[in-house]
Amino acid sequence: MGTKRNLVNKGKVNSKQTLLEQIRADILINNICPDLAKTATNLVMGDGNINADIVFIGEAPGKKEDEQGIPFIGAAGKFLDKMLIEAGLVRSDVYITNIVKYRPPNNRDPNPAEKKAFWPYLVRQLDIIQPKIVVTLGRHSMEYFLPDQKISMVHGHPAHVSLGEIDVVVVPLYHPAAALYNGSLRVTLIEDFMKLSTIIKILEKEKEN
Ligand code: URA
Repeated sequence: MGTKRNLVNKGKVNSKQTLLEQIRADILINNICPDLAKTATNLVMGDGNINADIVFIGEAPGKKEDEQGIPFIGAAGKFLDKMLIEAGLVRSDVYITNIVKYRPPNNRDPNPAEKKAFWPYLVRQLDIIQPKIVVTLGRHSMEYFLPDQKISMVHGHPAHVSLGEIDVVVVPLYHPAAALYNGSLRVTLIEDFMKLSTIIKILEKEKEN
């Protein structure tokens, strides 16, 4: 499994934290998305519990996230925090990251080349954290795990996905920012979060047995 391959390097056992820091260093060394890097303040890698069973993946940092180097701390993040609580979770129970790790100027959508450039680094993060559930927030992160699917058709429906080194259950959800300004999407997102808490309970039961 990925754990062994990653944690053992030339006879040395590296901590998850060290391996995650190496990803940050590699993004900088490999000069990923230099145009975004020029306009961004911070490379926003992730936040939360690196031993979490659940990883949330958004699209890209916004203004506040870029300023502070932490994902989902603006308005969408506050809404995400509320929904986590509804689902019986707090931020420190989960790990939160984005597919694109620099803020696109003026919060424009990340483009296909940017998503493609950052994808291998996201897979490395997942390979180290080894979550059981990956929750994609919005279509930008969903399309990499569930290609050719429409979020309007599959939101809230778990799917098994193999990422080479790890197998995860992917739960695609609408992006909290979209739900902030659209009442019916907000209701749908809250309902999907409730389903998420059921999925977590089922997986926990399986773990106990
Ligand atoms: N939206 C995202 O997709 N990610 C963030 O970190 C903040 C807002």
